[in-house]
Amino acid sequence: MEAQIILYIIVAIAAVSYVFDQLLDYINLKALRTDIPDEVASFYDRQRYVRSLEYHRDLTRFSFISSGFMFLISMFMLLSGGFGWLDDLLRQYIQNDILLALVFFGVLMLASEILTLPFQLYSTFVIEEKYGFNKTTYATFFTDKLKGYGLAFVIGAPLLALLIYLIQSIGPTFWVWFAILASGFILFMNMFYTSLILPLFNKLTPLQDGELKSSIQEFAKKVDFPLNNIFVFDGSKRSSKANAFFSGIGRKKKIVLYDTLIEKHSADELVAVLAHEVGHFKKKHIIRGLILSVLQVFFTLFVLSLMVYNTNLSLALGGGQQSIHLNLIAFSILFAPISGITGLFMSMYSRKNEYEADRYARETFSGSALAVALKKLSVDSLSNLYPHPLYVFFHYSHPPLLKRLAAINSAQLTAHGNPH
Ligand SMILES: [Zn+2]
Repeated sequence: MEAQIILYIIVAIAAVSYVFDQLLDYINLKALRTDIPDEVASFYDRQRYVRSLEYHRDLTRFSFISSGFMFLISMFMLLSGGFGWLDDLLRQYIQNDILLALVFFGVLMLASEILTLPFQLYSTFVIEEKYGFNKTTYATFFTDKLKGYGLAFVIGAPLLALLIYLIQSIGPTFWVWFAILASGFILFMNMFYTSLILPLFNKLTPLQDGELKSSIQEFAKKVDFPLNNIFVFDGSKRSSKANAFFSGIGRKKKIVLYDTLIEKHSADELVAVLAHEVGHFKKKHIIRGLILSVLQVFFTLFVLSLMVYNTNLSLALGGGQQSIHLNLIAFSILFAPISGITGLFMSMYSRKNEYEADRYARETFSGSALAVALKKLSVDSLSNLYPHPLYVFFHYSHPPLLKRLAAINSAQLTAHGNPH
């Protein structure tokens, strides 16, 4: 295919996906409603709820501006041949292809950081601040940034260098080898994320003995699930939003509870949240999720192998010759519709799993405690009670609160033999 036609296809994909995303945001904004359903009425006070709607409007309007700006920049880069220009410029100074690719992406990352920094600052220190979520300071914000760059340098750069090396030295079958290595990396990160990466950003302290710990252990024994490594995470350092997660596979799992979660929930509610997480393990969601992401890696790299040697992709982006890093950029846009579709299926699968984990928590512990915990979490994060169904379909990895509550309740009623 001719370079010019490839450029048109790339621009069309970028434009269509931009417009589509904005439309979804827009209909979701229009779907906001001021009435509070009876189900959660006692948890929301009216004022807080109106505030939550304002939060959503502010966030969405702000994202219209920031994503519009980034869209214009990327259109400019594509249509003016900016990527190719940068490649030509760097080639005058750097001969080694791997180093060239690293510097090329480094410059692009730096430029995009500088351009988006004002937006990031505004969203954290103005919008999140206005609604009381933000707990971070400028010092934490910028040290986080530096640590993030450090990680990109230590982990991202070697992976990229390896990819370029394999593409050049092995030829079209490089994708098999890189997919194997990348899958190993995914597994490794899954097992050691909490021990290696998290401590760089936050402090993890073992949960102290007390009512909470003994309730958790009692539940763990009942469902025969090892829950020994329980840690408290100082999430309050950055945000008042609460969360809990498991990390690791096999018997060495760690459970991480945000301090903000412990603060606001009773022991029963916390055990219900953990029971939901245990449900993900018992129903094999975790292992299946891992397998799916490995399959995705293989598929993506296979499609990459079909495109990465095509000189016309580099020419389409304004390059003067074939260059692997230009082709990687072209690939990332051309592949977007495919990854959009696989992402859609992953979200559907994830929402189904959430219902299953809720059901597990209800069967093994308590549906009502889980319902209370979900309501509190939703109130605290000012989550949208009436997201537009299309928005949910494309973006939500978890079903909306009211749907989850309805599912928990209906299951509870049938469990008690009451058909109403
Ligand atoms: Zn879940």
